[in-house]
Amino acid sequence: MTRLTGLLKDEIAAKGPLTVARYMELALGHPDFGYYRSDDPFGADGDFITAPEISQMFGELIGVWCAVVWRGMGAPKRVNLVELGPGRGTLMADALRALGVAPEFRAAIALHLVETGKGLRDRQKETIGNAHPDIEPQWHERIESLPEGKTLFIANEFFDALPIHQFQKTPEGWRERLIDVADRGGFCFVLSPPLTTPPPVAEELWDAEAEAVAEVSPASLSIARAIGERVAIQGGAALIIDYGHERPGLGDTLQAVKNHGFADPLTDPGRVDLTAHVDFTAIGAAAALAGAKAWGPVGQGVFLKALGIKARAAALIEGARADQAEEIQGAVARLTDGDRMGTLFKALAVMPAAAATPPGF
Ligand code: SAH
Repeated sequence: MTRLTGLLKDEIAAKGPLTVARYMELALGHPDFGYYRSDDPFGADGDFITAPEISQMFGELIGVWCAVVWRGMGAPKRVNLVELGPGRGTLMADALRALGVAPEFRAAIALHLVETGKGLRDRQKETIGNAHPDIEPQWHERIESLPEGKTLFIANEFFDALPIHQFQKTPEGWRERLIDVADRGGFCFVLSPPLTTPPPVAEELWDAEAEAVAEVSPASLSIARAIGERVAIQGGAALIIDYGHERPGLGDTLQAVKNHGFADPLTDPGRVDLTAHVDFTAIGAAAALAGAKAWGPVGQGVFLKALGIKARAAALIEGARADQAEEIQGAVARLTDGDRMGTLFKALAVMPAAAATPPGF
C-alpha cells in the first residue's frame, strides 16, 4: 500500500467516498505523494511522452506563434510569457531558442512558469537555464499570483491533468461517481444518491440514456475563465493544446498511464498519471464568458502544418544524417497524422474579442 493509499482511505473513513475530482487532486497533486510532486514522469524513459519531447519542432513553432501574436498586439516592450505545467521545460527552451528570429520579442519577455511540482521546477530551471542563462523564470503555484500586464499563455497537456467530476445516468436519474474502499481493500467506484438537480454538465447531455457518463472539470473552467478575463482586460493571448473532444460528449475518459501503457486509475494512486479528455467547447465558452474570444479548436495536425512544420522539418533535414532525417520525418508524422496525434490533440486560442485571427486558426 502506498502512503497516499493510506491517506485516501483515512479521508474516506472520515468523510465518506471521494469525488473523482478529489481523488485526482490528491493522486496528482498531494504535496508529498502526488504523481507530479514526486519523480520525473516524462520522456522516452518515463511513463508517457508529450509532443515537445517528441521533437524540438513543436516548441519552436509555438515560439514563432507567440512572436507573430506579439507583433499583432503592437509589439509591446514588456510582455509576460506564461507556461502552465511546463513539464521538463523542453517546450519553453525550444520556443525561446526559435526566437533568435525575433530578438525584440525575446527581449520583451518576462517568463513565468506555473508549476506545483518541486522536482519538475528543478528540472525546468535546469533545462531553460542551461539553454538561456539570460532569462530568469519566476515560478508560481497558481495563476492568481501572476503579475498584471499583457500576457501570452501556453498550456500543452496541462488541462488534461486537472480534476474532473463524473456523473452517471441511472434509471433513478443522475448520480455522481464516487470512489470508496472496496471489500477486498482496494478502491472501487460507487454512486451517490440520485441528484436532486441536473448535473453541472452541458445541458444537451441531460437526456442521456441510462449508464451514460458525463464529465465536468470545474478547475479547468475556472482557469479558462481567469485566462479569458486577463486576455480580454489586459491584452495578450492563450494557446491551449491538449487531447480531447470538440463537442461536449458522453463517456468515461478518466485514464491512467504507467510505463507507456494503460493502467487502472484506482490502483497505485500517486504512482500513475491520471488524465481526462479536455472539453474544448467548455473551455472556450468559459473564456468567452469572461470577455475574450475563443478560436478553434483545430486538430494539432492542421495547426502545426499551418505554422510550417513541413518547412521546418525540411530545413532540419538539410544538415542531417540519413538516420536523423528519418527521425525528423517520423516526428512530423507522429505529431500531425490523423491516426497519431494529429486529430485527437487539438489547439484552441483565446484572444481579445477584437484581435485578428491568430496564426494556425
Ligand atoms: N507541458 C508539459 C508537461 C505536461 S504534464 C509537456 O508537454 O511535456 C502536466 C504538467 O502540469 C506537469 O508539469 C504538472 O506538474 C503540471 N500540473 C498539473 N497540475 C497542475 C496544477 N494544478 N497546477 C500547476 N501545475 C500543474
